[in-house]
Amino acid sequence: MDPTYGEYDTSDIDGLQTLIERMSAADTIEDWSFILADYISWGNIKIDKSVAIFNMNSATDCPNADTERCQVPWNACYAHKAENIYPNTLPYRRRQEYLWDSMDPETWAEAFLQIVERKRNPVTAVRFSEAGDFRVDSDIVRVNRIAQLLEPHGIDVYTYSASSFLNWDLATDFTINQSNEFSAYGDRLFSAVPTVDDVPEGAVVCPFDYAKSNGVPTEDRPKCGECRLCIDDTGPDVYITLH
Ligand code: SF4
Repeated sequence: MDPTYGEYDTSDIDGLQTLIERMSAADTIEDWSFILADYISWGNIKIDKSVAIFNMNSATDCPNADTERCQVPWNACYAHKAENIYPNTLPYRRRQEYLWDSMDPETWAEAFLQIVERKRNPVTAVRFSEAGDFRVDSDIVRVNRIAQLLEPHGIDVYTYSASSFLNWDLATDFTINQSNEFSAYGDRLFSAVPTVDDVPEGAVVCPFDYAKSNGVPTEDRPKCGECRLCIDDTGPDVYITLH
């Protein structure tokens, strides 16, 4: 299946007109920062709250959905399930995509830094694409520029991607966890295997996943951000186990 990017009707997106009106009225970076702040989340059950999360599209519109490039069967994709269960999720993520395509990387980075200034808690990283995936090479170029602008502020940018059809040589300044082996790209492989015994020599099991499979309560597991295996651009391949 070819990437599905752009195949939906934007006139059907709840709340998009309000977002467009807010963007039209935005004169300053501060204005953009308040808009962007409404489309960034901080942490989740597996990610520490010091990590910002931004999607450039939804799982429904993911270029790798229901293709052999994605390791997860389409009917088991959590991000896609959420878009079917919660009525606000898909429109929110499609508005994120619209916002992503409306902001140049310099404005995005400057607006993000203003959000960081307003926060009380430290910010260590930005994760792109909790849902969806990189669609086109220009997504890589734009994220790379954002990473260059955030790096002097001690904020790292990372992602997981199954978009093996893109030119990842363009990603010189952020960390890519490669989710399939259809081409050589990314800084490491992040993959799923049936059991711990299937993890190759020299690779490691995700500490959160390992703790989960050993019955450690959610609040006591090492979260992404506290664990930096996928955030740093050096280090071993990382595996999660299916059992
Ligand atoms: S290895 Fe660390 S950073 Fe990567 S997913 Fe697991 S907890 Fe998160």
